[in-house]
Amino acid sequence: MRSLNALWAGRRDWFNPVGREQRIKDYIALANQLVWQRQASFLSAAVLAAFYFDPYATLACYAVVVLTEILDQLLARQSRAWDGKDPVAGRRILQRIARNTAVSATAISLFIISMAVQQTSGGHFTPLFFLFSAALFAAMHNSQMVGILLLRLSIYAAAFLFIALLDLVRYMPPLGSQVWLEFFTIIFVLYFIVDTSVHFYLNYQERIAHMRRIEEENERTKAAYEVKSQFLSTVSHELRTPLTSIKASLDLANNGVLGAVPDGLKPAIGIAAKNAQRLAALIDDLLDLQKIEAGEMVFNFEPVDVNTLVKEAVEATSGFATKLGIQVSTVPCAEACHVRGDHSRLIQVMNNLLSNAVKFSEDGGAVKVIVETDGARVRISVHDEGVGIPQDAQDRVFGKFSQVDSSDIRKVGGTGLGLNISKQIIERHDATIDYVSELGVGSTFFLEFDRLEGADTSRADDRPIAKVA
Ligand code: ADP
Repeated sequence: MRSLNALWAGRRDWFNPVGREQRIKDYIALANQLVWQRQASFLSAAVLAAFYFDPYATLACYAVVVLTEILDQLLARQSRAWDGKDPVAGRRILQRIARNTAVSATAISLFIISMAVQQTSGGHFTPLFFLFSAALFAAMHNSQMVGILLLRLSIYAAAFLFIALLDLVRYMPPLGSQVWLEFFTIIFVLYFIVDTSVHFYLNYQERIAHMRRIEEENERTKAAYEVKSQFLSTVSHELRTPLTSIKASLDLANNGVLGAVPDGLKPAIGIAAKNAQRLAALIDDLLDLQKIEAGEMVFNFEPVDVNTLVKEAVEATSGFATKLGIQVSTVPCAEACHVRGDHSRLIQVMNNLLSNAVKFSEDGGAVKVIVETDGARVRISVHDEGVGIPQDAQDRVFGKFSQVDSSDIRKVGGTGLGLNISKQIIERHDATIDYVSELGVGSTFFLEFDRLEGADTSRADDRPIAKVA
């Protein structure tokens, strides 16, 4: 009973335009996929029937079945062209599916009934088995549209009942005879087919519901992502802009440009300027991360002279290094070495590596940047003698917002985003970033690129690379 209820409840789908496109397309796709399997069964059944029963009746029924198959193929073409939007076209396709189904199921049933009628003695083993196979095939493969399935199964059920009643009417046998046994067996088989149909139908519905859930989840994720993007763009415009002017004003006050600052106020202004600087760095990192994740970070790839790149980066961090009493030296590559990259993004990566090396070094420590080639590769190493990184911290070092050291030992703050951003930038260059480190001894971060052969070296800066202290 539960089976029938479920099947009956599903009839609404037949009229419900929501998801109808999917069901029609699924139905036709599967029908197309199974076309040769169906042809093989029809043909073998027809050959058997033509040999043992009336060949003309068999041929006529077989011709009608083949005709409906051809119509189905034409319909498949029409449905592929349907974009699912025009409801009138959808209704027309459905009507044609229903018509083809009715004609094909009737032709198959008549073909099988004609066999049963020709059998004058014994049970109707062959026609009943043919009918059973046809019904099972429909139950297994037509569950996308319950209306169509019901239509086909009802026609087969009528054929089953016709065959079941045929001998009862013909011979009027007593209840204890084999003919009645066959009748009850047919009723049992009918129930089995209905049950199987419901089973396949519910499975299909579950699959559709699952797909809908995934689609909804996808929509929610997209919406959340949009909110995040909007939030970050608000952060960029509403926070970054005023912060820049706060920072500039504090710097002006700090440098005495706005007049003499009372001694008691100096430390407070200094702290405010430092924190404004940290906040600006955090916002910059957040915006970079957002750009990378949205695939919006633009890279202008061009030949980059690595020696010059390193020189510029070292110069840019020299003020910071001097303030912390760290000496930075460079060992350039002896020969010209170029890579393909985005100059300003590579400077950003180098600044990150250098500022990390400086800030995790002990007072008076040394940082060394080495550029070298190894066959077709160029390697930039940033070596420090600082606190080092514990083993197995790789994920945290390159993770988002993760800081390996405890914040009480660091001299300078950070966002925990720098290396994550650097890694993503380096990966966009098809290059690698990695490190080796030992706690209390120091760390070496290195970048490895494919070397660019025959690059235009006229852009290279030939001045010797200065030692920055
Ligand atoms: P942060 O802004 O905190 O420096 P990064 O992403 O640049 O963020 O670095 C992540 C973490 O990796 C740092 O917080 C630090 O714990 C560790 N780290 C990075 N570079 C070094 C280094 N040269 N020496 C020791 N630890 C480092």
